[in-house]
Amino acid sequence: MSDIPIFRLLPKEPALRDKLSSSFHERLLDSLHDGVYFVDRERKIQYWNKGAELLTGYAASEVIGKSCSDNILMHVSEEGCALCVEGCPLADTIADGKRRETEAYLRHKLGHRIPVSIRAAPILDSEGQIIGAAEVFSDLTAKKRIERRVGELENIAFLDSLTGVPNRRYMEMKIKQAIQEAEVFGRRIGLLMIDIDGFKEVNDLHGHEVGDDALRAVCLTLAHSLRTGDFVGRWGGDELVVVVKDISVAALGAFAERCRMLISESAIPAGDAHLKVTVSAGATLVKRGDTSNEAIKRADEMLYRSKASGRNRVTID
Ligand code: GH3
Ligand code: MG
Repeated sequence: MSDIPIFRLLPKEPALRDKLSSSFHERLLDSLHDGVYFVDRERKIQYWNKGAELLTGYAASEVIGKSCSDNILMHVSEEGCALCVEGCPLADTIADGKRRETEAYLRHKLGHRIPVSIRAAPILDSEGQIIGAAEVFSDLTAKKRIERRVGELENIAFLDSLTGVPNRRYMEMKIKQAIQEAEVFGRRIGLLMIDIDGFKEVNDLHGHEVGDDALRAVCLTLAHSLRTGDFVGRWGGDELVVVVKDISVAALGAFAERCRMLISESAIPAGDAHLKVTVSAGATLVKRGDTSNEAIKRADEMLYRSKASGRNRVTID
């Protein structure tokens, strides 16, 4: 955050400085959809653009000269903490000269709360002294609504409640999508079917709860091993599936082997001791013309071979 160059009110070069007169700046800032305001070192609002008027309902004449700590906008954080009292990004930025980004809720003049993303930047004079800070804020309402909706849908329909990873329905959808992408864009998609070894015995020896912990731990290890855009989900029981994009046979084999090794190296608390679990895996690349069922079946057959040849191993097609 702090290594982004700090912008100054006016450029140093005289010709450019004349051209970019303050009225130009005002017109420029007023043309933005974002709210922009500037506070001096005492946190008195000295500038308030049109975007800020539209987003908050407060005209510039109502806020200029007021202190932002008068709490006109009553910023509160996601957790409900009053930012004007503690954690005001502008006050912090004036104090340490660092840029900040956060999300918060501000209060509209009509009283309702609006979610906003906030960026604060220090403003320097020509000697490099901090003379105040600018805040740019934008409306997050639509984004928040969509996030909430997706979150609700995903929680209800697509997440496995025990492990927190996507469930089979979601993974079936993702595998179909990945296969379509493979056909259209020629991407190479890898599938991994993974099954915990001797899991029934884990339950029998340590109890179902420890078994559940082990299953969660395996899912977390896999989830942390993925690159962005790849997925792990619970296929059912102790069987998991991973979709890996843009991968060669050799890289898929190495990835599967790393997952196997990482899981075998983890230790799940079981009473006073720690329990080790291993997994067997079957891996395959999606082939041209494959249906998702065909690709999954092949990965499953490879998994079966890993089990048959001694477990705690990877077989790749
Ligand atoms: P292997 O896979 O090595 O052949 O042996 P296994 O003992 O793991 O056999 P299998 O995969 O066929 O059995 C899966 C067992 O996983 C059956 C059941 O006891 C256990 N299991 C399935 N779902 C859950 C779960 O949600 N929680 C717990 N604790 N156990 C589960
Ligand atoms: Mg098993």
